[in-house]
Amino acid sequence: MALLSSNHAKKLLAQSRCPACGALRTELIDERMIVIATFECSARFAAQGEREIFAHTICPAASHIAAWTLNAEVVAEAGDKAGAE
Ligand SMILES: [Zn+2]
Repeated sequence: MALLSSNHAKKLLAQSRCPACGALRTELIDERMIVIATFECSARFAAQGEREIFAHTICPAASHIAAWTLNAEVVAEAGDKAGAE
């Protein structure tokens, strides 16, 4: 089990960018029982003790893309209405 947790910690330590959106890493905490990597997008990933890597704070990139898509739909729908008049 020690090898497994060590490999997960090493994997997280090797991430210089957010695994979800590619934003740069802004902080890295590497202590005996925990590794915490924080990224510019505010996402935070951690590997603790015997556990696997987990998303401590979720990357907001997907929500930004969802908002951008909704706005694009509003513009397209307004365009359709203008064309129909
Ligand atoms: Zn991110």
